Amino acid sequence: MQIAPLETARAVEDARLPELPVQATLRRLEREFASLLGATGAEAENADEPVFVTRPFLPPLEEFEPLLRRIWQTRILTNGGPFHRELEAQLTTHLGVPQVALFNNATTALIVALRALDLSGEVITTPYSFVATSHALLWSGLTPVFVDINPVTLNLDPARIEAAITPRTTAILPVHCYGRPCDVEAIAEIAARHRLKVIYDAAHAFGVRHRGRSVLNHGDLSVLSFHATKVFNTFEGGAIVCADPAMKDRIDKLKNFGFDDETSVIGVGLNGKMSELNAAFGLVQLRYVEEAMSGRRKVDAAYRKGLQTITGIRCLDAAEEETTNHAYFPILIEPDYPVSRDALYDALKRVGIHPRRYFYPLISDFPAYRTLPSARRERLPIAAESAERVLCLPIYPDLDPGIVARVIEVIAAQ
Ligand SMILES: *Cc1c(COP(=O)(O)O)cnc(C)c1O
Repeated sequence: MQIAPLETARAVEDARLPELPVQATLRRLEREFASLLGATGAEAENADEPVFVTRPFLPPLEEFEPLLRRIWQTRILTNGGPFHRELEAQLTTHLGVPQVALFNNATTALIVALRALDLSGEVITTPYSFVATSHALLWSGLTPVFVDINPVTLNLDPARIEAAITPRTTAILPVHCYGRPCDVEAIAEIAARHRLKVIYDAAHAFGVRHRGRSVLNHGDLSVLSFHATKVFNTFEGGAIVCADPAMKDRIDKLKNFGFDDETSVIGVGLNGKMSELNAAFGLVQLRYVEEAMSGRRKVDAAYRKGLQTITGIRCLDAAEEETTNHAYFPILIEPDYPVSRDALYDALKRVGIHPRRYFYPLISDFPAYRTLPSARRERLPIAAESAERVLCLPIYPDLDPGIVARVIEVIAAQ
């Protein structure tokens, strides 16, 4: 059979051949996407398309097509195929880390990471994160113990970790929030003193360096997300970074149901494998990731410049250039700003700009967590206050400078 090019449906339409069912589906999808993007109906009157907190980066489609053809030729779709191996190798070099194990997403990667270290009991973590961080613990039968964050970095505060350690504690699960490195030295020191494992949720930290090395080299394991909304995306995807080839081998088995060979299974694995489609796409994305990061850098600089004179708006301190990837642009709405965070959020939405309140509510406020003793708000004052004040402004590589100016204007006009 011939390999079907991407434009098959349209080509057929042009030749006035009988309509394929897929064409009707495509037309319906086109209408749905158009309305999702606000380009039809009442929204069409409004020349401005809505602006969201992020827009996934995509490389030129032509560069992906030859890789798709290859998949059609080989029929290797998954289970550690050639694109999977090649992406692991390229990411190892690109990130400057010893071992990379690819996953279908970061949530399964987190669950496998916890399993790979054979953890039990309690794990100290931050309430100020995306809910998947703690979900991975509960899903694994572990008890999250929430500890407050540092007001400057919004990362887990090492000074408070030690007080939360009990005889049941087996690990620490910090997050490099917004891609800003945790205090990795202090955390390593505490972990060594109490013989705890450290797993970094590094979902925001692609390409982030710390003192000249990838921040992913810290801790026992680091988990990356390649979700559509992240700095480097494979549509869906993730990875575990580790130091030791034997650990990578264990992780590779656990992500493939625990299979060691055809007839033996080393433990309770799951299916966490990245497909060849996603891996091939990742190889094309990787060609553009530096360019994408420098696009983000310009947006970051424009926001900082425009917002610096506005009373009551605090940007997180600019990290040293090499220690950041500009994954997010969070601002904190301080008490001396004229209106509340939510009033500003609504004002921006009224003009078609959709920032996000990352991370509000706190994980510790969700029903699955709020009955834990460590979830009590009075124990997490800085996290609670940050969640009430934060707003993440739109940032993505090709965000129009005019939109950045408009965001600043709206913030200045309240
Ligand atoms: C995005 C994200 C995840 C989950 O990543 P998926 O790849 O979507 O499973 C986990 N933790 C944090 C901090 C995230 O931002």
